[in-house]
Amino acid sequence: MPTVNAFAATSASEPLSRTTIERRDVGAKDVLIEIAYSGICHSDIHTVRGEWGDITYPQVVGHEIVGTVTEVGSEVTLHKVGDRVGVGCMVNSCRECENCLAGEEQYCLNGNTGTYASVDRDGSITQGGYSTHIVVVEDFVLRVPEAIPFEKAAPLLCAGVTTYSPLAHWKVGPGSRVAVVGMGGLGHMAVKIAHAMGAEVTVLSQSLSKQEDGLRLGADHYYATSDPETFDKLKNTFDLIVNSVSAKIDINAYLSLLRLDGTLVSVGAPPEPLPVQVFSLFGNRRSFAGSGIGSIRETQEMLDFCAEHDIAPETELVGADDINEAYERVLASDVRYRFVIDVSTLA
Ligand code: NAP
Ligand code: ZN
Ligand code: ZN
Repeated sequence: MPTVNAFAATSASEPLSRTTIERRDVGAKDVLIEIAYSGICHSDIHTVRGEWGDITYPQVVGHEIVGTVTEVGSEVTLHKVGDRVGVGCMVNSCRECENCLAGEEQYCLNGNTGTYASVDRDGSITQGGYSTHIVVVEDFVLRVPEAIPFEKAAPLLCAGVTTYSPLAHWKVGPGSRVAVVGMGGLGHMAVKIAHAMGAEVTVLSQSLSKQEDGLRLGADHYYATSDPETFDKLKNTFDLIVNSVSAKIDINAYLSLLRLDGTLVSVGAPPEPLPVQVFSLFGNRRSFAGSGIGSIRETQEMLDFCAEHDIAPETELVGADDINEAYERVLASDVRYRFVIDVSTLA
């Protein structure tokens, strides 16, 4: 079992620190990936701080992984040594439940195997991308198109697909009015992708401090939610609202912004409940929905879509020793718009 360098949380309150972990030997259907870049998702922070429930420490997080294939098992057909590949939020699923058979393995009825903090098929706890290498079964490994700069590609593996999936599911296209709540890692990708799909895009941010960026990234309109007039002005406006906020917000106020048959889909995952007044849903026959990451098929479709439309995340490259500071900046909504770890700094 190869021992590799990694950066791990040792408790819910301690800073993350350098460590080593063991990766499994490359099995017949596995690929070994030398990780080049690893994105920092707000879910990593929720997880290591125990906000979504207790976890086992030490825990290496990170589920926005890109790297190069350095070894393949004897039965691997989808990837070869030297390929540029990606790994997102899951590394396996049961492959036999109704949802897996429908190609929606992110909703595996037996629980998909998360890239980190999940019980793996061999009973061990999965360890994520803040590490130099990872071993993953071939069909949960994505092809990263050459057109996407490698140092920018990592955030597509979670932030990209988590926003692409609901935008595609609710059939966003020309004529759609889409609002994106929160312009962080997920939110800024939602803006870019919805714009590329042809929608009229509005950002609803806490303040106007990122307005210029929002408009540059593809938004047509930008409003501050701290201004109460925003909610009056935008009543009954949107077909789809994508809520990417990591904290509790007044969901009823946002529901009032949906037009007839509109949907508010939450991809943001605050630890606290978001209480909904049913009366907020009666008017305009509104829906409140959730969406979790995306399937492997959809992830590849999103990567190819981004290559075709020249879409890449806005990133800030950091070294391993900057991860704790990056976490604080994410928590302060001071991320422009995704931190990406240069994994060579872990070597
Ligand atoms: P992020 O980069 O921190 O972005 C969240 C944004 O929400 C912030 O930039 C900020 O935008 C806004 N915000 C933060 N605190 C707020 C508050 N108290 N009130 C109002 N707005 C606030 O986080 P992320 O990585 O994009 O992740 C966002 C959420 O999605 C997290 O909860 C994460 O766990 C979840 N997530 C879910 C899935 C899924 O499968 N559904 C996948 C990945 C992540 P403004 O400054 O523009 O207001
Ligand atoms: Zn994520
Ligand atoms: Zn399944």
